[in-house]
Amino acid sequence: MRANIARSPSSDLTAAEREGLLLMREEEKIARDVYIRLFERWGIRPFGNISGSEQAHMDAILALLKHYGLPDPAQGLALGEFHNPELQRLYDRLVKQGLRSSEDAIHVGLLIEELDIADLQKAATQTDKAAILGVYGELERGSRNHLRAFYRWKQMLGVNYVPQHLSPEIFERTALSVHEDCSAPG
Ligand code: ZN
Ligand code: ZN
Repeated sequence: MRANIARSPSSDLTAAEREGLLLMREEEKIARDVYIRLFERWGIRPFGNISGSEQAHMDAILALLKHYGLPDPAQGLALGEFHNPELQRLYDRLVKQGLRSSEDAIHVGLLIEELDIADLQKAATQTDKAAILGVYGELERGSRNHLRAFYRWKQMLGVNYVPQHLSPEIFERTALSVHEDCSAPG
């Protein structure tokens, strides 16, 4: 994946492409930082494993930001700090909810993954650059796997969950389909 980025031409990005990359960099940080906090609180394994995967997602977007000469909106920000005030509010709300109970924590995990999938799909419609589409596709596969992991816990704990960013049909179909290989060349 990194080699594909390095080989791709670093032509100018459109405003929509820039916005997409900046949003996704901080959105992946929300996922990582929330999962770190919730793993500390509840010790539920997927939060520990998946926070490492969100770090890899942050790194993949950072590689694109560097390639296209964009500033990193997450630079120098500590755990739980965000440049975009809207994302800061979202983080604060999700952590507060996730710390209430382990059921709420699973709820928050599902919500983050749904949002991530929806926003990656939206960002992908706004670019035709292969290097960016490759990263978005890789991150979306990862997010679908994360959704599946949290869904298994939802079933185990009997959590009620109504999808908010994907249609109920797509949410169920994604959650109940098989794990995808994220390391496939893309
Ligand atoms: Zn992610
Ligand atoms: Zn994820």
